This record gives sequence, structure tokens and C-alpha cells, in this order.
Amino acid sequence: RVRMEGGGLIASLPKSEQRAVARKLRIEQKLPQALREKTIKPVFQPQVDMKTGKIIAAEALVRWEDRDLGTVSPAELIPVAEDCGLIGALGELMIEAACRQAVAWQQEGFSVRVSCNSSVREFRNGGMTSRVRDILDRTGCPSSLLELEITERFAFEAEAEEAIMHQLKALQQEGISLALDDFGTGSASFRYMQTVPLSKIKIGQEFIASFPTNEQVGRIVDGLVHFGHSLGMIVVAEGVEDEMVWKALDRSGCDAVQGFFTGRPMTAAQLTEQLQARR
Ligand code: C2E
Ligand code: MG
Ligand code: MG
Ligand code: MG
Repeated sequence: RVRMEGGGLIASLPKSEQRAVARKLRIEQKLPQALREKTIKPVFQPQVDMKTGKIIAAEALVRWEDRDLGTVSPAELIPVAEDCGLIGALGELMIEAACRQAVAWQQEGFSVRVSCNSSVREFRNGGMTSRVRDILDRTGCPSSLLELEITERFAFEAEAEEAIMHQLKALQQEGISLALDDFGTGSASFRYMQTVPLSKIKIGQEFIASFPTNEQVGRIVDGLVHFGHSLGMIVVAEGVEDEMVWKALDRSGCDAVQGFFTGRPMTAAQLTEQLQARR
């Protein structure tokens, strides 16, 4: 709403907000070039199987280091990309880079599924299924190596919008798996759990952090794991930072973990080294 033409409006804001608006504008101005030149790229955070200790998947997380802007975090970048209509291009860049990486790992003999975050806005104008199919064709990535993460909010909106649900189902039919991100931290609804074709739930890190010390949270996490399994889903815990949490999760029957304890988000080259070291 507060755009260029709102010069007078901006001047009436407190100094700190003026700076925030100015930075947002700079990000918006520099984003198209960064997408073209691919200075925006993914890092990868491993998901580790609790039983085997193997890296089974890696979440692709967007990173942008700009000479003038410095580090632009996903929390800053994603809302701007959504507001200025570039989230589709950003999503495609991420999925393509992740698919290329999955193929590179496959050629080295590692089967690592890559998981990309998607915004509901990427689905709003339709055609997501064919865009993803094109990327798989271009990169030679099997659909089984790609996963898309959607949030509870996304799932909730998909439930109400036929056109979005249709695309999710089509993607799932192509063999791409869908994961529910930050599960339990948003507005969980049991209705979409039966209509959205999910194969994985990722228990949100707010839950996981207080898991071992809070008995109540402990019971909820145990329940979520059980709940996911009873629906035939894989259950992953996010934000696992220490061994205590790992052990508690192991007792609860959780399938895999993602967090600083088992690996921070890292470059593809760093993750390749880890895969080789564990071979
Ligand atoms: P998310 O999808 O839930 O990703 C997990 C976030 O938690 C990442 O933050 C990751 O760095 C952080 N994290 C992982 N393990 C730990 C841990 O043990 N402790 C703590 N404290 N944090 C941990 P990041 O990279 O800053 O991303 C933040 C959010 O931005 C993501 O949350 C996701 O919702 C969004 N995002 C990131 N990349 C993309 C993208 O390419 N497209 C879209 N649409 N959203 C993205
Ligand atoms: Mg995610
Ligand atoms: Mg998450
Ligand atoms: Mg999150």
C-alpha cells in the first residue's frame, strides 16, 4: 500500500518505520535482477532418519546476500516477493536449483529428496503443475525426488479453493510428495488433513523446543507422532537443537529430524561432503 507515490505518507511515519519502508523498496527494486542473475540461491538442511542415521532429504531454504542490502533473510524476502508478484519466479528458481542438486546427488549414488517451500500465491494463477513438470523435464529430476512444503495456512486456503486443491492433487499424482510445514503452530484443521494429499508432517519447532522439559508438550508431540502415523504419514520434527530433544523424539517414535543438532542449513557442496563422509 505504501508505495513510491506515497512519499508524503512515508514522511509522516516514525523514523524506524521510514527505514523499514525504504529497505523494503530497495529489496523490491533489486529483486528482479537477483532472480535473473541467480544471486538468490538455496542452502540445504538435512533431514536425518532416526533409525538409520541416514540423510534422507534436504530442505531447500532461500538465501540472498547482496552487496548493498547485506543479508536478506527469508522472513524479509518472501513477503516482498509475494507483494510484488515475484514469488512465482522465486519459487521456480528454488525448485529448479533444488532439482538440479537432487540429480547431482543421485549421480553420485545418493538418494536425497529435496524439499521446497511453497507459497499459496504461487498457485493462485494456476499452472503450477505444468511449471513443476517443465522443471522436472528440464533438469531430468525424477518426481519422487521432489517434495513441496505447504503451511497450515496454505492447506486451509487450498481446502476452500477448488483450483488450488486441484493443482495439489495433480502434483501428488505426478509423484511429487507434499509435506505439511510447521504443523501444530498454525490453525490446524482436521478437515484439510483428509482432503489435501499429504505424505509428511513436520512438527513445528516451537513445539519441539520445549518438548523434553514440558510434560504437557511432551504428550502433545507423542500424540502428533501417533496421529501422523495413523494417517500413513512420515513424521519429521523441526528445530531439534540438542541430544535431549533427539532422545525424547526417538522415544516418541518420530521418523526423522531436521535441526541444528543434525545439521545447519549449508551449501550443496558442504552437504555433499557430509553425504560422502557418511557413506
Ligand atoms: P521453515 O520452512 O519452517 O524452515 C525452517 C527454518 O528454521 C529455517 O529458517 C531454518 O534455518 C530454521 N532452523 C532449522 N533448524 C533449526 C534449529 O534447530 N533451531 C532454530 N532456531 N532454527 C532452525 P530460515 O531459513 O530463516 O527460513 C524461514 C522461513 O522462511 C521458512 O521456515 C519458510 O517458511 C520460509 N522460506 C525459506 N525459504 C523459502 C522459499 O524458498 N520459499 C518460500 N515460499 N518460503 C521460504
Ligand atoms: Mg519448510
Ligand atoms: Mg518449518
Ligand atoms: Mg517456519
